[in-house]
Amino acid sequence: MSDPNRNPNAPLADLDEWELAHTAKSQAEFRNYGDGVPDRVRNFYRENHRHQTLDFVRAKKAEYLPLKRRRMGIWAAMEFLNTLVDESDPDTELSQIQHLMQTSEAIRADGHPRWFVLTGLVHDLGKILCLWDEPQWAVVGDTFPVGCAFSEKIVFSEFFAENPDHSNPAYSTPLGIYHEGIGLDRVDLSWGHDEYLYHVVKPYLPAEGLAMIRYHSCYPVHREGEYGYLQNDHDRYLMDWVRKFNPYDLYSKGEAPPNVEALAPYYRDLIAEFFPPEIDW
Ligand code: FE
Ligand code: FE
Repeated sequence: MSDPNRNPNAPLADLDEWELAHTAKSQAEFRNYGDGVPDRVRNFYRENHRHQTLDFVRAKKAEYLPLKRRRMGIWAAMEFLNTLVDESDPDTELSQIQHLMQTSEAIRADGHPRWFVLTGLVHDLGKILCLWDEPQWAVVGDTFPVGCAFSEKIVFSEFFAENPDHSNPAYSTPLGIYHEGIGLDRVDLSWGHDEYLYHVVKPYLPAEGLAMIRYHSCYPVHREGEYGYLQNDHDRYLMDWVRKFNPYDLYSKGEAPPNVEALAPYYRDLIAEFFPPEIDW
């Protein structure tokens, strides 16, 4: 399965493969899998942990958050994302649009409000960063705060030894550059599709949906309960919603693929209820 010559910018065969770490019953169990974890996932996290420094995150924010790349509607962004072809088996893997609709359909089936369904539909559109030649380790994978000590509960935390921030005294105390209760909004998280999309859709969705988008890959916080000292009461409230969202993202994947064409009219209406025809990306 392992290929030592695989491009370090694209070690994963499938853009969702890193989530294997979370479909195991617990982090500890996953760690104990040892050889059961594909080398691709290890290599992916090695690159991620090595390169996600505070400087890197701030540079990516400066590059992308002015949102000057293009104007595009939500549906067009879904189709754009779908041009991203994974190297994995097309018979067993869902397309990106199918993953989005499977997530939103599972939310809809449980009778949740329309903004929640729509959040499911858009939650991974930030992965279009891959189409702008960002390496996988700067798009997907667990996210975590930078500028303060890396939690040992982050998957493959041993690879942080290769991150220059790890040995920087300013960034390696529990609080680092932050203060107690500062609130996650003011904490820099490792860069990826969550943070990018949050800024793109911020004007259009309620705070609870925005938190689901911004923190859905932040397993150290929403699953492991780490970094409590950086959070405020509002974060703790929002994290309940992030946890509510998580199973729809992770576990709806095994079900039959949604009929994208048949569902398109419903979703075009839903998108138009919250979003203008085009937004800034
Ligand atoms: Fe995601
Ligand atoms: Fe997802």
